[in-house]
Amino acid sequence: MTHRRELDIAVIGAGILGLATAEALVRRGADVAVFDGRPPGAGLSGGLTRTFRHRHDSEALVAMAVEGRRGFARWEERLGRELIGPEGAVYHGMDDSWVTGMVAQRVEHSFVPGSDGAEVFPALAPVDRPLLVDPGAGAIRAKRTIDALVSWVGDRIIPFDVHSVTVPSDGAGAEVQTTEAIYRARHVVICAGTAVPWLASSAGLDIPLVSALHARPHFRVRPHLLGTPLPCWVDVSEEFGAKVYGSPIGETGTYVVGLIGADVDVPFGPGGALPAGTGMEDHVRRVSAYVAKAMPGLDPEPVGARVCVMTKLPKGSDALRAWHRPGVSAIAGHNLFKMAPALGDLLAETALKDQLPETLERAGADALEAA
Ligand SMILES: Cc1cc2nc3c(=O)[nH]c(=O)nc-3n(C[C@H](O)[C@H](O)[C@H](O)COP(=O)(O)OP(=O)(O)OC[C@H]3O[C@@H](n4cnc5c(N)ncnc54)[C@H](O)[C@@H]3O)c2cc1C
Repeated sequence: MTHRRELDIAVIGAGILGLATAEALVRRGADVAVFDGRPPGAGLSGGLTRTFRHRHDSEALVAMAVEGRRGFARWEERLGRELIGPEGAVYHGMDDSWVTGMVAQRVEHSFVPGSDGAEVFPALAPVDRPLLVDPGAGAIRAKRTIDALVSWVGDRIIPFDVHSVTVPSDGAGAEVQTTEAIYRARHVVICAGTAVPWLASSAGLDIPLVSALHARPHFRVRPHLLGTPLPCWVDVSEEFGAKVYGSPIGETGTYVVGLIGADVDVPFGPGGALPAGTGMEDHVRRVSAYVAKAMPGLDPEPVGARVCVMTKLPKGSDALRAWHRPGVSAIAGHNLFKMAPALGDLLAETALKDQLPETLERAGADALEAA
């Protein structure tokens, strides 16, 4: 056979998960190639910042976040630069029942009285209820992380999209079809973000991932707070009229805020469209109204807004799952950036052993139940 190229492991997608998987494989001395027709990090992993937080409903996901934090520390050491800032995270509207996973995993946290709110979040309006503080959380320097991984994975990135992944009739590994060539890999890991369902379906895996549009305006920090570290923020209290998350954008003096909740993201792709009479500007206005009430330390006039694509499994927020059949594995979920070093290691193990590690199987099942 001369028309076909042989590979040990093919990773599809050079977002944070594909790159983390490739980095873990290279570290273990494996022969790996990563396919992506777009620049690395141009998909769901784009932009400057993501929140790293430990709190999740499921203990398995808290444990994975702990592993993720360790992995980021390892990357920071290798890079010689910080990838997660020291800002911490503050949560509003949560009580003891929200931290059972953190308690079980012995993750440092505390509740501070609402009257001390300005001490833990200087941009915040006065609140009555206690605030949960996660001091090991922080803003991930997303672009810096992607750039570091690209430099480590190097020329193993092949700049072509994959048309499909099929399981050949002889059952050995999987075939990867690209414009440039046909490859036969011993194992293919599909980390293609929004494209996971259709790529995985050609390999016989049925993945119920939904994509949706999400508005993400950002706001100027008022001059008196410039230089003061502001934490990441999760507010599920609805005290200020909406549930939101927020995060500082590095050292830019701006802060991003987005709505959370089942009704805020708009299905995207075939069959999905904004309902007549609405638009993403409505979402930006809702966030601005929230900022005007809840965050006097920010100017509520947005300085910009990105409309991003989000992915979610049917069980909702924070749910993640990996799928496997001989020769092929795939991963999908929501809010996976913070987990990337841990997931990269687990996907590397999946590829090398051609079987899902128990931790990944358990995290997926548990998250699906808990979400
Ligand atoms: C607005 C927003 C806010 C978020 N906030 C957080 C947060 O605070 N904390 C957190 O942890 N997570 C957060 N997330 C989620 C997180 O960013 C994603 O879960 C993560 O980036 C997914 O990475 P990925 O590698 O799976 O996908 P992607 O980054 O989309 O990578 C997939 C890659 O596959 C490539 N690809 C697609 N089709 C093909 C093909 N046919 N052939 C080859 N390559 C292909 C794409 O070009 C892309 O580069 C947020 C996401 C968004 C959009």
